[in-house]
Amino acid sequence: MSMLNRAIFLDRDGVINIDKGHVHKQEDFVFCENIFDILRAFQSKGFLIVIITNQAGIAKKYYTTDVFQSLNSWMVNELRKQEITVTNVYFCPHHPEHTGTCNCRKPEPGMIFQARDELNIDLSESLLIGDKISDIKAGKNAGIKNNVLINKVPLQGADYEHYFENLNEFNLHSLPVESLFQEANKVLA
Ligand SMILES: [Mg+2]
Ligand SMILES: [Zn+2]
Repeated sequence: MSMLNRAIFLDRDGVINIDKGHVHKQEDFVFCENIFDILRAFQSKGFLIVIITNQAGIAKKYYTTDVFQSLNSWMVNELRKQEITVTNVYFCPHHPEHTGTCNCRKPEPGMIFQARDELNIDLSESLLIGDKISDIKAGKNAGIKNNVLINKVPLQGADYEHYFENLNEFNLHSLPVESLFQEANKVLA
């Protein structure tokens, strides 16, 4: 018998850490306020934690895959110190102008589909958090029904189910994990 998992899909820059543009050094990697609490809340509800990140800086030769991987290992370890287990991190090293098109760069759903297949995830019961419309579109393209935009402004271009100005507004004490799904279902009903 196969059991399907629920997952929370998170963009990296602008969600996990402050987006300073092509972050690839530890000294530039600053965790977003409240991200640890949010991840622990979802983890305690049994969600897998999956990070999906466009890393066009690799295609543009700003940094290498090895540099990305080494920062990534550090990040995963820092999260572990906060009692957060990242199930997996998927990254797209491409950029259309440098490497041609691919099916992993968001808004394409390739990274989400890869995670679904490798980790046995039920996308309809999962949730995505991003700070750009391309994140939301990737979620929509993959069939995720609960997409959360975190941005100073409510960007146009794709319909997200939830919007918060920042992660501090995304308060899971006043808005528990399950209510995110109930509200989204209400919209769909
Ligand atoms: Mg981002
Ligand atoms: Zn790609």
